Amino acid sequence: MAAAVETKAMSGQQYQTLCVVGGGIVGLASAMQASVRGVFRNIIVLEKEPEVGQHQTGHNSGVLHCGLYYQPGSEKARLAVDGIKRMIAFCQQHDIPHEICGKVVVAVSEDEVARLKELELRGRANGLSGLHWMSKEELAGREPHVVAKAALLVPQEGIVDFAGVARKMRDLLQQAGHEVRTGVAFRKLHVSGTQQTVETSGEPIPVDFLLNCGGLHADRICRACGLRPPCRIIPFRGEYFRLNPAGEKLVNHLVYPTPNPALPFLGVHFTRMLHGGLEAGPNAVLAMRREGYAKTAFSLRDASSALLWPGWWRFLAKYPAATLREFENSLFRSAFLRNLQRLVPGVRNSHLLDEGLAGVRAQAMASDGTLLMDFLLLRAPGQLHVLNAPSPGATASLAIGNHIVNQILDPHSTPME
Ligand SMILES: Cc1cc2nc3c(=O)[nH]c(=O)nc-3n(C[C@H](O)[C@H](O)[C@H](O)COP(=O)(O)OP(=O)(O)OC[C@H]3O[C@@H](n4cnc5c(N)ncnc54)[C@H](O)[C@@H]3O)c2cc1C
Repeated sequence: MAAAVETKAMSGQQYQTLCVVGGGIVGLASAMQASVRGVFRNIIVLEKEPEVGQHQTGHNSGVLHCGLYYQPGSEKARLAVDGIKRMIAFCQQHDIPHEICGKVVVAVSEDEVARLKELELRGRANGLSGLHWMSKEELAGREPHVVAKAALLVPQEGIVDFAGVARKMRDLLQQAGHEVRTGVAFRKLHVSGTQQTVETSGEPIPVDFLLNCGGLHADRICRACGLRPPCRIIPFRGEYFRLNPAGEKLVNHLVYPTPNPALPFLGVHFTRMLHGGLEAGPNAVLAMRREGYAKTAFSLRDASSALLWPGWWRFLAKYPAATLREFENSLFRSAFLRNLQRLVPGVRNSHLLDEGLAGVRAQAMASDGTLLMDFLLLRAPGQLHVLNAPSPGATASLAIGNHIVNQILDPHSTPME
């Protein structure tokens, strides 16, 4: 079957059915790009939840990232830079509320100033325009409560509600005559001779091509298609505090720390919310359940999948201090607060409203404990699996979707790694 699919694709023929597993923003954006390019007669998106965008897509910081952080030349840099343009154009075209409020990246030590200079060079190499070093006066005018040795303004970044974007993508797919089946879970792919059939919690579906965009379950879905993924999804919960009205007044833009390249995650930051208000976070702590948002959420299967796997212990051996610090940040509000005070010393415990807000990152990890930082696709005949779509995967989703459709149509192109 797969060979037949690829032959048809190369000869420019339309083929029958694309099944996309996962109604998150990456699955929906890919389905939309396939719909626009008109290569499949039917597109069926399977989403196990009753609504699209309920996991990473609906539990993130809502930041439109423009590609400041990523290694020039990497797929992540290319897709982030292309992705934010596509996402803003999509929001404008469909009247989706968003705001380009700009981001201030703050350096609070001499080490950080040196790293922030490198970041500026990366941003410029990635083609970002408008980056500029803020003078003391400009910083005091824009962010009077931020105390910094240096601050870089990234004017093109902004905020959006990605779950709202996902719902719009679903509507457009349905208007184009395709199906988004919510409340239907993928179970297994059966391949028999030239036929592929998807076993679901509902009726079986014969498909020409299967695209796995299962986020926190992407590795398991890949195995249920008969492949061995080269990584495992390790769930890292990111917890947020909302700030009370007095705390909200302390920050006007997005305010981020200078990331430390020796550490796996960006560090807690302040994010303005689209409909008002301010959030602080997220930290990054091992979650005991892949789609578990409460600190107490536990699944024996998910916990043992991480804790009984040597890759996790190798990761811990690489980052013992950072991992323990993240546990401390999760357990003790005072530790979380100290991180926020590095950026905005005036933020107080009384400003933090603990509403249990959290997201869980689907972070692919190699068995040597390395976190895979770039997007990762795994291709097999008649199948393509998105095994890593970390931040800025939501911003970049339309560019990722476009790349995925290119991959489906051109089996000889180099897969992303
Ligand atoms: C805390 C946090 C903060 C982030 N901040 C940002 C940010 O500010 N900006 C940004 O651009 N990105 C951010 N990201 C990253 C971004 O959210 C992700 O890159 C993006 O949402 C990934 O989308 P997805 O569709 O791959 O995954 P998901 O949104 O998780 O979608 C996967 C879908 O697959 C479904 N599924 C799984 N298994 C099955 C099955 N067996 N059958 C049917 N359906 C199934 C799930 O229910 C889910 O809906 C953040 C992520 C987190 C967690």
